[in-house]
Amino acid sequence: MTAAAENALTANPANTAPWPNKGVMDIAAYVPGKESAPGVAKVHKLSSNETPLGASPKVSDALANVLSHLEVYPDGAATKLREAIAEIHGLNPANILCGNGSDELLGLLCQTYLSAGDEGIFTEHGFLVYKIQIMAAGATPVVVSETDLTADVDAILAAVTERTRIVFLANPNNPTGTYLPAEAVRRLHAGLPPHVILVLDAAYAEYVRRNDYESGIELVSGNRNVVMTRTFSKIYGLAGLRIGWMYAPAAIVDAVNRVRGPFNVNAAAIAAGAAAVRDRAHIDRALAHNHEWLVKVTEAIEGLGLTVTPSVGNFVLIHFPETPGKQAEQADAYLTARGYILRRVTGYGFPNALRMTIGSAEANQGVIDALKQFLR
Ligand SMILES: *Cc1c(COP(=O)(O)O)cnc(C)c1O
Repeated sequence: MTAAAENALTANPANTAPWPNKGVMDIAAYVPGKESAPGVAKVHKLSSNETPLGASPKVSDALANVLSHLEVYPDGAATKLREAIAEIHGLNPANILCGNGSDELLGLLCQTYLSAGDEGIFTEHGFLVYKIQIMAAGATPVVVSETDLTADVDAILAAVTERTRIVFLANPNNPTGTYLPAEAVRRLHAGLPPHVILVLDAAYAEYVRRNDYESGIELVSGNRNVVMTRTFSKIYGLAGLRIGWMYAPAAIVDAVNRVRGPFNVNAAAIAAGAAAVRDRAHIDRALAHNHEWLVKVTEAIEGLGLTVTPSVGNFVLIHFPETPGKQAEQADAYLTARGYILRRVTGYGFPNALRMTIGSAEANQGVIDALKQFLR
């Protein structure tokens, strides 16, 4: 029994109060990015990788229709949304399953495939939701070291045991912004036993401009043990509506369908997601903006003498010097006081770095100027 669970028991020797499942009290709850700066009039939130362009203008028409019929349950199969996604990506809608954000899907995969004693693997600086969901399913989280802030295929394969049931890989990863080329992901898959699910979390796939990158669609199509998850929270600008989807083999879709809530995706999300995925012009605008500013921000911040991990996403990881007074904690306070909210990433193993989302031109330039002052 874990220490926390034991405490719960000793605190209630007569079992006069409920206690949660084994493992639950060992979970460190997810801490979202800050969103406000006390006393600052104008705030630029660059802490949650949201798009500065907002959602497609087509979304509001879609939502107006939904608003006049809020008494009606949504389509439990999210058919219109799955069809729109399938059409745009050239997929079979039967292999798509939607969720209340891709976070829900990550949790459902754990609930469906993990139980006590099983192991779930993720990497050193990987997205924290994996660990939380593995533990919530009562299973054992196994964290694997990275090399150069990038997932290490050999290290992951070396960590696989007979208890391993699931391997999570964010590609590209948040908060590092690094990625594994398609060839490396294929080598990872080829080294896994056939009963181990490889979950490719491609939340930032739309942003990647690299010839050697694949989001995972190809790998899912040819195999029985690969799942790709995607989200509408990032480039589509719909984080507030909570929409994610996964592309998976029929047997996995079938299993997760039995576990999920019957109406897990709400009516607004279905309508908005379908409209957003079809508006390719909006995505092109978001991509162009991100590409321009990802390069500018990286170069400008490196020009200030800071180290920036090369990113293929819509954010950069900025490393601060060990100089007293010039570290990430003080930089965070300095920027916050001026309305620029970045993300502390101590929980991801980076006590002396901040993650900055690529924001509007004004916000990006503001951070660059403020950092220049800060470092002076
Ligand atoms: C933002 C993000 C998600 C998306 O989560 P949603 O629940 O769809 O909003 C998933 N994975 C990673 C790595 C992310 O950074």
